[in-house]
Amino acid sequence: MIRTILFFNLFFIFTIEVCCQSMEDKKEMSDKKSPTEWKEEISPEQYRIAFEKGTEAAFTGIYNNHKDTGTYNCSVCDNPLFTSNSKFESGCGWPAFFKPVSPESVNEHVDVSHGMSRTEITCNNCNAHLGHVFSDGPQPSGLRYCINSVSLEFQKED
Ligand SMILES: [Zn+2]
Repeated sequence: MIRTILFFNLFFIFTIEVCCQSMEDKKEMSDKKSPTEWKEEISPEQYRIAFEKGTEAAFTGIYNNHKDTGTYNCSVCDNPLFTSNSKFESGCGWPAFFKPVSPESVNEHVDVSHGMSRTEITCNNCNAHLGHVFSDGPQPSGLRYCINSVSLEFQKED
């Protein structure tokens, strides 16, 4: 009998913990700005690319041929995304990187728009659309993160 009570007690405590955790997750989500809130702070071009999944014209972005040493942050929320160490000349017309700052800095989503099957990349912090990742990049990763310059804000290393 005591064992049964103990078991239910433990079960109850566990349930409460799981419950609290999901409430915390929700709170964290609500602290983040919505695209409508960001719209007030960013340019129309930034909004078009970040939250309407637009693409800048090839070879027009300010970071396409950019070679300085530093970090490329999300131009919407300032989250560090890529470093100049992983930037390479891909010839595709957009800044290209073979890996993000950390696996947690970006998110991947399957994108089947425009009659293609691609992997979309978004900022893990503000969900802004950044570009796509392709599997024809250089070693060691073999990946090519093709990113809109408009989605990036370069921070030069001192
Ligand atoms: Zn962001």
